[in-house]
Amino acid sequence: MLKVFKFGGASVKNADAVRNVASVLALFPHDELVLVVSAMDKTTNKLEALADAFFHRKESTLSIYHELKQFHFDVIHHLFPNKQDAIYTELENDFVELLWAIEDEPASLYCFHYDQIVSMGEVFSSRIVAAYLRNALKVCCWVDARGIIQTDNTYQEGIIDFERTQQAAQKEIVPLLKKNRMVLTQGFIGGTSENYTTTLGREGSDYTAAVLAYSLNAESVTIWKDVPGVLNADPKWFHPTQKIDELTYQDAIELAYYGATVIHPKTIKPLQNKEIPLYVKSFVSPSEPGTIIKNTNKQLPVASFIFKVNQLLITLSPKDFSFIAEENLSKIFSLFHQHRAKIHTMQLSAISFSVCTDNDAQKIPALLADLQKEYKVWYNQNVELVTIRYYNQSTIDRVCVGKEILLEQKSRYTVQLVVRNTK
Ligand code: ASP
Ligand code: MG
Repeated sequence: MLKVFKFGGASVKNADAVRNVASVLALFPHDELVLVVSAMDKTTNKLEALADAFFHRKESTLSIYHELKQFHFDVIHHLFPNKQDAIYTELENDFVELLWAIEDEPASLYCFHYDQIVSMGEVFSSRIVAAYLRNALKVCCWVDARGIIQTDNTYQEGIIDFERTQQAAQKEIVPLLKKNRMVLTQGFIGGTSENYTTTLGREGSDYTAAVLAYSLNAESVTIWKDVPGVLNADPKWFHPTQKIDELTYQDAIELAYYGATVIHPKTIKPLQNKEIPLYVKSFVSPSEPGTIIKNTNKQLPVASFIFKVNQLLITLSPKDFSFIAEENLSKIFSLFHQHRAKIHTMQLSAISFSVCTDNDAQKIPALLADLQKEYKVWYNQNVELVTIRYYNQSTIDRVCVGKEILLEQKSRYTVQLVVRNTK
């Protein structure tokens, strides 16, 4: 049966991690496997810095490029002692492709250049892992996701055309699987009908895995991570955490939507539609059961906590003190949409409207300037958004120690709190 495996940035972060991928795969000698890999370690952040440097004509452009190249070549020096291995030329060619993307003056919008540049992280990592598996397991086959995952031209957040993607996946991947048993491709990236590269949004490799599983009617998807499974909170912000053994699609969607970074929010829907189970497992202890997300009616046994830091709470009120009614709301929403700023939570009163959004330096100043044309605008920086799924008063009290609540939004199972430190 066909399984789709996704290996994220941490699972391929250096030469040892790549070797570990091969040992995880060795546990599945009889399955057909589609492997989806992310960029190595923090490569995507580095590439974002490169895109920014290129677009703003900063001097650092070439030095960031060389740093990235050095990093990837160091990895292959460790993995491929035979300097005649084809990977040396393959990777050199990929870096030439990146060089082309940063050679000329920026000729288009930032988001277009971002995608041509930042997508290369997955190309490098997939090239390296595929070459390693070719040697270590004598199977595996590299496929370019830009020819399979078909998107529109919404750069930085390509919208997938499921029909064309399914056709391409069936046509390109199925025969390769029959022949090679394993096929490896890139997460996070796709292509437009004019053959430009798009990306699917940060952390989008999970979504790629789900889309391929959907398109190929896979038996399951497994996301291999450096945590034992889905936890009820991010250990970075909360102690102690608990692993959740089993989760409904609905709870998984809610947690991901509110910002639990363990799974990309778009991942679940395609799987739910075909009832394909999703496993989240540890690449350090691959035999442990991890978490399974599937069609079950088990409710989450514990409250889950999701923390988003560096948030901005914006409050708007019409300049003429009219009410915030449908017309104003639709203007406000379209400004957020235009500036691609995501609303994480909101609250409406008669004459004001509050919104919590990421304090993103690329988007917020222009958004605020536009809002100020029509509205009085107040904002609080450095606030945090805490979401609790299956909350009660004691879980709320627990996260509010030393904090002041600026906005609270409750539904039956979920509470969202915008808070700031009282100090
Ligand atoms: N490499 C991309 C990122 O870091 C996509 C992913 O890891 O899923 O956002
Ligand atoms: Mg990643």
